[in-house]
Amino acid sequence: FAPWEDADEKPLIEFRNVTKRFGDFTAIDDLSINIYRQEFYALLGPSGCGKTTLMRMLAGFETPTEGQILLDGQDMAAVPPNKRPTNMMFQSYALFPHLTVAENIAFGLKRSDMPKSEIAGRVDEMLRLTRLEQFGKRKPHQISGGQRQRVALARSLAKAPKLLLLDEPLGALDKKLRQETQFELMDIQEKTGTTFVIVTHDQEEAMTVASRIAVMDAGRIIQVATPDRLYENPNTVYVADFIGEINLIEGKAEPLGDKLTEIHWAEGEVPIIGTAAEDLPKGTACHFAIRPEKVAISSERPETHANAVQGRVHDIAYLGNISTYHVELKNGQIIKAQAANNRRLSRRSFTWEDPVWLSWTDTAGVILTE
Ligand code: ATP
Repeated sequence: FAPWEDADEKPLIEFRNVTKRFGDFTAIDDLSINIYRQEFYALLGPSGCGKTTLMRMLAGFETPTEGQILLDGQDMAAVPPNKRPTNMMFQSYALFPHLTVAENIAFGLKRSDMPKSEIAGRVDEMLRLTRLEQFGKRKPHQISGGQRQRVALARSLAKAPKLLLLDEPLGALDKKLRQETQFELMDIQEKTGTTFVIVTHDQEEAMTVASRIAVMDAGRIIQVATPDRLYENPNTVYVADFIGEINLIEGKAEPLGDKLTEIHWAEGEVPIIGTAAEDLPKGTACHFAIRPEKVAISSERPETHANAVQGRVHDIAYLGNISTYHVELKNGQIIKAQAANNRRLSRRSFTWEDPVWLSWTDTAGVILTE
């Protein structure tokens, strides 16, 4: 069982109907979530959706206008930031330039009630954890950006918080270093067993590091799920569109029984057949959502797939291992299909204006009504 599926597991963090208003603007709107021990929990959403506000309430820099935040079962309302078992790592690492790496890591420990004799040992442990053993005596300007990022992480984990809050921690790193650092973060999170909550607007980053992702929009949570579930079973068009690439075909539902549903979507086109989460009333407005990699592209109509539409290749994005074909249907709509570029199988690839068939199985997509 994952902790969030285990009814006996107590959450580390509980948001109970939390609302945060700034004047008459509602930044967080009646939001309830549970976050469990050892989770790597990502808050994902567009700019201004309330991610940072949610984190700042956890850290104690903001107080909810309504509702409760519990940490380990304790209401945090009256607990100031420095008395919470939390720490926050910011995008600008704010290392002290005149202190060495080791002194930076020790800084918070010296001001805590940790006995002096234990501090050096703890600093060494943190240097090992973040693979900075050789850099303890250097100043921040004598190490790379990625290493500075690890110092900041070591410093924020030194006091062994129950919860580490990471606000766009990798925003300053270039793409390659950012990807490497994501794996380091996961590794360190696993080794320490600390609960991490990360704010990011980079969906790939959230998919890589997180045990679960909360997708937010305008102060609300739209869906919380594991990365694969979010990708395979988005609950709304908003989530489907936000995570990865997706084709959305608008239409009207006609139930065939047992959740099997026909979607009538364009004049002169055969209805799409898919499975809905429930039997929908006839005529319900809906979207059929399907990932490009689930759409097969071929020059002949395939016999194996139930759903098939005809179109012409309009654009091709060559990505090395795969190509994405943008295929224009008779009604002008573009559907994306991905196919592997595998020369050894001498798979015929397609070129501009080629007439093609796009096809998929009954279970390849999802039907969304919101
Ligand atoms: P970004 O990805 O751009 O950092 P975010 O999702 O973290 O965005 P927040 O910083 O939480 O968004 O802000 C949510 C909304 O609340 C925004 O519309 C913002 O303008 C507003 N807001 C945040 N802090 C305050 C404040 N102190 N006073 C007034 N409005 C605020």
